[in-house]
Amino acid sequence: MSIQFLHKFTTNLPSDTIEENYTRQVPKAAFSFVTPKIPSQPKLIHISKEVQNLIGFSDEFVQSETFLKLVSGAEIVSNAKPFAMNYAGHQFGNWAGQLGDGRAIVLGEIENNNQIFTLQLKGAGATPYSRRADGLAVLRSSIREHLCSEAMFNLGVPTTRSLSLVSTGDEVLRDVMYNGNPAMEKGAIVCRIAPSFIRFGSFELFSSQNDIENLKLLADYTISNYYTEIQLEGKEKYIEFFNSVAEKTREMIVHWQRVGFVHGVMNTDNMSIHGITIDYGPYGWLEDYNPNWTPNTTDAEGKRYRFGNQANIALWNLYQLANALYPLVEEAEPLETILNNFAKKYDEDFSEMMLKKLGITSKNEENDKLIQQLLYNLEQTETDFTIFFRNLNQINKEDSVEDCVSKINFSFYKSEEVTGIILETWHFWFAQYLTILKEETTSDDERKLQLNSVNPKYVLRNYMAQMAIELAEKENYSLIDELYTLLLNPYDEQPDFEKWFAKRPDWARQKIGSSMLSCSS
Ligand code: AMP
Ligand code: MG
Repeated sequence: MSIQFLHKFTTNLPSDTIEENYTRQVPKAAFSFVTPKIPSQPKLIHISKEVQNLIGFSDEFVQSETFLKLVSGAEIVSNAKPFAMNYAGHQFGNWAGQLGDGRAIVLGEIENNNQIFTLQLKGAGATPYSRRADGLAVLRSSIREHLCSEAMFNLGVPTTRSLSLVSTGDEVLRDVMYNGNPAMEKGAIVCRIAPSFIRFGSFELFSSQNDIENLKLLADYTISNYYTEIQLEGKEKYIEFFNSVAEKTREMIVHWQRVGFVHGVMNTDNMSIHGITIDYGPYGWLEDYNPNWTPNTTDAEGKRYRFGNQANIALWNLYQLANALYPLVEEAEPLETILNNFAKKYDEDFSEMMLKKLGITSKNEENDKLIQQLLYNLEQTETDFTIFFRNLNQINKEDSVEDCVSKINFSFYKSEEVTGIILETWHFWFAQYLTILKEETTSDDERKLQLNSVNPKYVLRNYMAQMAIELAEKENYSLIDELYTLLLNPYDEQPDFEKWFAKRPDWARQKIGSSMLSCSS
């Protein structure tokens, strides 16, 4: 099998004029050609068979030496001309200027089944955008990215994919909690896949440099390759483009809220122009429902990127994108209209999604109140988000409120707290819920099927990834494979894996890597 890279991005957009690889500002360029660092002893740890099939790689090829060289950066394979992308961004609400791929290197685009796939190595060495860092990634964060990308895809959440996980054989120095305790860790590389890795920050870069020519070039390139349904011309084209990005972004956030995913670093450089989840760093999964939770210790103070704030932040980020695109539109109103509609549309989508999680098909004010009351109840005592919603599939219309509470009892972290007023609020809530269910024409069986398609049984709980990481540090990769397999079918009952349908164990409550993560990866 021979791979043919297309070189679309690099032939259509401006290149850095300097070839040397050292940290610097790179003006008026969308990328710099770079060569990945040669790893000392690359080993393939895991492949996503699904991604392999998606991009049309044969079994024979992925077992070959050439494949290992490709996904570890050990050798430039076929006609690849690797490059690092230039972009800017707002980080934690502040303008950060040029950022760029400091530790990601694009191998190129390939085509399969009329789709374009960009292959990118994360952790393959320094680039002109590495600033003061080393361009490398550690095993723990690479395992987290590889497993979570695929888990998210299988949950139906728009996301970048991960083809492979490789250990490099090199050691990397990291201070996990930024507390002056650096240690050597194993290096690794993930080969991730997306239509492209263009971000909101890619547009902010040219706009901030007042480089309108390249801003237009990038927008035209993005639209003609990835938004081909847009047939408009002139400023209308860019308005429609912005509208599509806003829609896709909104849909992505609704999915995050549905499955309990907290991204953790929603900076504008981590927002894909395709509305797909990108950059799995200090992300986490809700265990007990807590809208104020963020796994990211770097954000512990302001909790800007907490679970319950993700839609607001998506909107904030879209404002930055609108500002960046403004020179192509030169009219604020159409962009403002799109931004102003975002919150209203999000609220509608959110309640529609929540009603689906409850198995309710009709939508009215009373049902919306039911959602609000539920979110309030879920915070009264630590309640497992995934288990609570999954166990709603046990409830029958003719159940008593006591039956209902006993069926969701497993989701309470401290069921002894569910007495008195807390128990009463649950009885009150289930009474209303049952009334609504009885008014619905769908049968219990039909509803259960529908519920099981939106409320996953299994997600990549923070402690699960941590267990896989701890074993992998000892070169035992069995749990990576087990979790990958489990999460191929997150909505299915999988009796052999029932042990993963469990609340976070107590040891994981305050553990680094499990409930606390930093950007040091
Ligand atoms: P992140 O918040 O992980 O998306 O990273 C923000 C910026 O820092 C991006 O420009 C990254 O490329 C860069 N970066 C993060 N980690 C490293 C690293 N180990 N070496 C070089 N650049 C990095
Ligand atoms: Mg990033």
